[in-house]
Amino acid sequence: MGLVGKSLCAIALSVSVVSAGHAALVEPTLRLKPQAAESGGGRVALTLDACGGKTDTRILSALVDNRIPATIFVTGIWLKRNAAAVEIMRAHPDLFELENHGGRHIPAVDTPQKIYGIRSAGSPDAVQAEVESGAAALVSAGGPAPKWFRGATAEYSPSAIAMIRKLGFKIAGFSINGDGGSLLGARETARRIAAAKDGDVIISHINQPTHAAGEGVVQGLLALKAKGMTFVRLDDAEGIGNNGTTD
Ligand SMILES: [Zn+2]
Repeated sequence: MGLVGKSLCAIALSVSVVSAGHAALVEPTLRLKPQAAESGGGRVALTLDACGGKTDTRILSALVDNRIPATIFVTGIWLKRNAAAVEIMRAHPDLFELENHGGRHIPAVDTPQKIYGIRSAGSPDAVQAEVESGAAALVSAGGPAPKWFRGATAEYSPSAIAMIRKLGFKIAGFSINGDGGSLLGARETARRIAAAKDGDVIISHINQPTHAAGEGVVQGLLALKAKGMTFVRLDDAEGIGNNGTTD
């Protein structure tokens, strides 16, 4: 075997090792269909994850007071512990769409690995259980059945994406990471959100009331509103995702 043949073998070997141990993950993008230019300042979708923990009432109050609609991705864990916030969201069905962030906040990755330190579901059955238990939690909390799913960490194995689509859910990627997992400072968070353009889908968190990022979320949203941007929920607009997440 020549040198080229040997290196091809080496490449093939390393690829197969990678796919056996750590399947390549994807972090899908979601955007809204562009709006006609004449219809104003554009539209963005604000999506907020409620992974676990508590409720950032700075954000929740700002959304209600300023009538900013949002899609909230909630887990079964968060729903159980935040009944008061859920009640406020349910009292404003024109503002809040509640969608599925999984039963236990376990990444929708069907091979065993860690993502940002969180252990993945690890098998197709475990991905399915995470998705279905999240949907069941929303229904038993009295809401309509969710149509969108976003997995913990927003990373997926392609085979998990195919399975979640078969279960009937669209998968919510994003185009602007507003708060860097709620770990960014207020100023940087506000800057990222305020920079949103027509068609962007923003992700941030509504479950970290002690983090500075939450203050930046509010500032960024108010800046967008002042610019004349329209906010829509995912069910109100046509979202177009890559990696087979919406088609
Ligand atoms: Zn989360």
